[in-house]
Amino acid sequence: MSVHQFSIGELECAVLQEGSAFMDRANVIARYPNADPADVDAALGDDEPSGSLNLLLINSGGTRILADVGFGEAGPPGMGGVLRGLGELGLAPGDIDIIFLTHFHSDHIAGLCDEAGAPVYANARYITTQAEWDEWTGRWAASSSAADQALLEQFRAFQDRFTFVSAGDEIAPGVTVVDLAGHTQGHAGLLLESQGERLLHVVDLLHQAFQLQHLDWHFGFDSDGAAAVDTRRRVLGECAEGQILTLFYHLDFPGLGTVARAGTGYGFTPVA
Ligand SMILES: [Zn+2]
Repeated sequence: MSVHQFSIGELECAVLQEGSAFMDRANVIARYPNADPADVDAALGDDEPSGSLNLLLINSGGTRILADVGFGEAGPPGMGGVLRGLGELGLAPGDIDIIFLTHFHSDHIAGLCDEAGAPVYANARYITTQAEWDEWTGRWAASSSAADQALLEQFRAFQDRFTFVSAGDEIAPGVTVVDLAGHTQGHAGLLLESQGERLLHVVDLLHQAFQLQHLDWHFGFDSDGAAAVDTRRRVLGECAEGQILTLFYHLDFPGLGTVARAGTGYGFTPVA
């Protein structure tokens, strides 16, 4: 079972695990360009690197929102769990009304289309930030890679399905867009609020648990490492001070728990 159901007030939620990408230790250690590899190795200690993909499904008054789509069935081995998870909940991809794209890295967007290029979530409209659209369509347009050109073509073909939002916009009752810029230019999360309960989905605010204690380490795929550090410090502080239930896309499934100050950084207590 790779579905974790919970609720935030009147919002029915679930975390669906797309898969757990095996990340070998050397590969993880090489992903922190401004850290000494020996320090990353020590920070990892005896822990297995985390490599889960945790997708948030929300039902807000009958509107079903899926935050990102994972790799999909055409992705690497072991992926495609989101479609199975929807099935376990008695849902089909066609039941999703809104796909909220937090950012355009492949582990978040590749599952939009099947192998034939048809949209998997046939009835959904897509929501993202203008900054994210501009960064990636610009990068793909400037790239000579066939894969990037194919992505550009796919996204342009879907342009009329997209709505662009900014931080503070409510995409459905109780579901508000949050600015997480840095990891990518338009990286965005979601704040859920209902009946006094809150959840903050911080997506790729960090990729490994040890980053909670090493806030200034850049991640190799950050578009702007310095901005990502500022965002990480600010948002983790808000999670800790507000004692907000927090969801991380890449920590061990379900990636849900609370953040508290610990030493010079933070600790994370997963939900039971
Ligand atoms: Zn990611």
